[in-house]
Amino acid sequence: MTGIDDLPIRDELRGKSPYGAPQLDVPVRLNTNENPYPLPEELVRRIAERVSDAARTLNRYPDRDAVVLRTELAAYLTRTAGYKVGPRNVWAANGSNEVIQQLLQTFGGEGRTAIGFEPSYSMHGIIARGTGTEWLSGPRHDDFTIDTEAAVATIAERRPDVVFICSPNNPTGTAVGRDTVVALYEAAQAAKPSMVVVDEAYGEFSHRESLLPLLEGRPNLVVTRTMSKAFGAAGLRLGYLAADPAVVDAVQLVRLPYHLSAVTQATALAALEHTDTLLGYVERLKDERDRLVRELRALGCEVTESDANFVQFGRFDGKGGAHAVWQALLDQGVLVRDNGVPGWLRVSAGTPEENDAFLDAVRAVTKETN
Ligand code: PMP
Repeated sequence: MTGIDDLPIRDELRGKSPYGAPQLDVPVRLNTNENPYPLPEELVRRIAERVSDAARTLNRYPDRDAVVLRTELAAYLTRTAGYKVGPRNVWAANGSNEVIQQLLQTFGGEGRTAIGFEPSYSMHGIIARGTGTEWLSGPRHDDFTIDTEAAVATIAERRPDVVFICSPNNPTGTAVGRDTVVALYEAAQAAKPSMVVVDEAYGEFSHRESLLPLLEGRPNLVVTRTMSKAFGAAGLRLGYLAADPAVVDAVQLVRLPYHLSAVTQATALAALEHTDTLLGYVERLKDERDRLVRELRALGCEVTESDANFVQFGRFDGKGGAHAVWQALLDQGVLVRDNGVPGWLRVSAGTPEENDAFLDAVRAVTKETN
């Protein structure tokens, strides 16, 4: 039988595994930072209407520039993130992963480098590799905040072409302060100049204001967002960015023509009509996230401050480490995420019932191991 290694694949892909958390059929799934609330019935009906309209035009290619959708996304950001943007500042693609891929195809690539501050969203490094961009790993403090001084020094020394700042950070939940973003942006401009990408996939869940207003006067800054988390639409695959219009023009050099299907555009527009209802679920999830932090601490766990819809908890330094606890929770029917951060696991905020089941499982498991 032919295996991957028998094929003439690129050397940097040899021995690698595809990214992805296990998709297991267990009662409580809190491992991929999904929104646990299905879309409301009213919105489901609106999607059906809008998709029916789109279906009547499927013999034609969709709007290649997704202008109506970008206009609505810009209006959403202007209303919720404290900074006025228009459709020329916004670009959309199939998930923010595709947005990030387009950014790296445009600003990274052969002979270029990108940096992230780890542990962070591992797809930044994986997409870098997929686009032939060399990946550099920058430092964090022990409490998982970015070590600004060390990060500035690393940028000055390594002169990366793309700097990723994930805020709130996955998997730790840590938000990044404006001062840090400004310091890293300035260091990146002095060194090269290079692009700074703020990944705000979890922005709506933060206690803090969005970093979007930092776009003012910073043409090499990009903020990425997604409808996968706050809009409860991970299955839709719709991510977007806000930046200077020149960045939007630049990513169009690498996007595939008609990359956003008419069905995707119609569904996203329907979801945006129901923004207020969906943001109501975000408020519930923020309360549940804060409850998880409190209750895990009461159970004796260490918990990293979280501004996202998930919580990093530990420390499991005993026999088998975090992975043994991950397995014991799974044996109780609760799936959380082992991101490979030694001693730590990550749990997504679910419904109150799912979170209760998770907390019961932690109680049972930690009692066993004590
Ligand atoms: N950025 C971060 C930090 C994420 O955690 C994720 C998804 N887990 C993404 C981007 C990608 O999300 P999507 O492609 O669904 O928009």
